[in-house]
Amino acid sequence: MKAEIIPVGTEILLGNIVDTNSCFLANQLPLLGIDLYFISTVGDNEKRLVDTLKRAWRRADLIITTGGLGPTEDDITREAIGKLVGEELKVDDKLWQELKDWLRRYPGKMPQSNMKQATIIPSARVIPNRMGTAPGWWVEKDNHIIIALPGPHDEMKLMWQEGVLPKLEQKVTGEVILSRVIKTFRLAEAKVEELVAHLSKLSNPTLATYINPDGVYLRITAKAKNKTEAQRLISQSEEQIQTILCPYIWGVDDDTLDSVVGKLLRARNLSLATMESCTEGLLCSTIASGPESHTYFKGGLLACCNEAKTAYGVETSIMERYGNENTQVAKAMAETARRKLKTDIGLSVGGNLNPDKNSGDAFVGLSSDKFEQTFTHILRGNRSRMKQRAVFAALFDLRNMLLEEV
Ligand code: ATP
Ligand code: MG
Repeated sequence: MKAEIIPVGTEILLGNIVDTNSCFLANQLPLLGIDLYFISTVGDNEKRLVDTLKRAWRRADLIITTGGLGPTEDDITREAIGKLVGEELKVDDKLWQELKDWLRRYPGKMPQSNMKQATIIPSARVIPNRMGTAPGWWVEKDNHIIIALPGPHDEMKLMWQEGVLPKLEQKVTGEVILSRVIKTFRLAEAKVEELVAHLSKLSNPTLATYINPDGVYLRITAKAKNKTEAQRLISQSEEQIQTILCPYIWGVDDDTLDSVVGKLLRARNLSLATMESCTEGLLCSTIASGPESHTYFKGGLLACCNEAKTAYGVETSIMERYGNENTQVAKAMAETARRKLKTDIGLSVGGNLNPDKNSGDAFVGLSSDKFEQTFTHILRGNRSRMKQRAVFAALFDLRNMLLEEV
């Protein structure tokens, strides 16, 4: 199979950003036995992109584009692919609904231009994007595959690992390919990679690490003549990873942190209440949207200022003594939530977000009649990423507490 990568974006041509997407993809293709002959960078211009796609269509079987999937005028990749294959773009109702649900999590009114991201052509299948709003496309037509991925590197990489690689592997080899995803939290990707470096060197099973909002994932992939053999190879690798990364592993495959926490609370017949500040309700909404959450989650208090904290019952003297957001306040918030909502456990998250510097701190508090604990987490990224990360940190700390103390 011959491939061509098309990075889309005037920023790349102007030298404003480095094309790390092509670098990543170019490293991936040889592992699949796919030959890459051309990387054809093109700006945000529809005619030139269509021309570039047409040329790639003549000389490659697989075309991978990155960028230009956003909601703005200059995001033209979808339209260009539609023109290439001669198909019309239509809004997909299911996709539009999903996009609206996702965007509702963010403050502010949703621009109508986002609807563009819910359009699709008949030959395209959606590649889900769990980190952002731009879904990718997998198009199959006339013995060609066109894969459209978004520009932001972490989103592109995650979608490649989860939505593209498994399908592509199956296309290029006739063997059974099985994967298992192991999910960790707290360690940086570089540290995880370092700890499992000896396993990453193996060619079967292969091991890939990638970043997610809820931690670093490790994907073990085994190829074999049959399922049993592939499963055996995966189990061997998984056991070793479990030994090395045990304290940081919180789930596998489809597990989510809220579902893992929910399962533990249900199994122990414990109830939970929350109080949060900087996460603006995201902690409560994440827990409440978990399956069967009504059986363990009583509710969440949102304090956007110190007056609200005081009104709920956090003593003013704690803020006066220690400051607005810190571990002491987090501890008091967790205890207040537990008391107010008469639950077994109180969980809190507060913090300082500094979006101008893309950094912040989150403080997590946990309270029950048996334990009281606080944790500090360093946050990175834009405001919504930091909020999301703080919520996952709180859920991760709660999970550990439930395993250790209860
Ligand atoms: P968005 O929804 O964020 O607009 P998009 O799919 O439309 O995503 P672009 O608008 O083309 O993508 O690029 C968005 C950002 O992604 C860029 O500002 C840059 O930070 C990053 N990016 C784009 N292309 C690349 C690339 N080839 N390599 C690395 N980063 C890239
Ligand atoms: Mg864009």
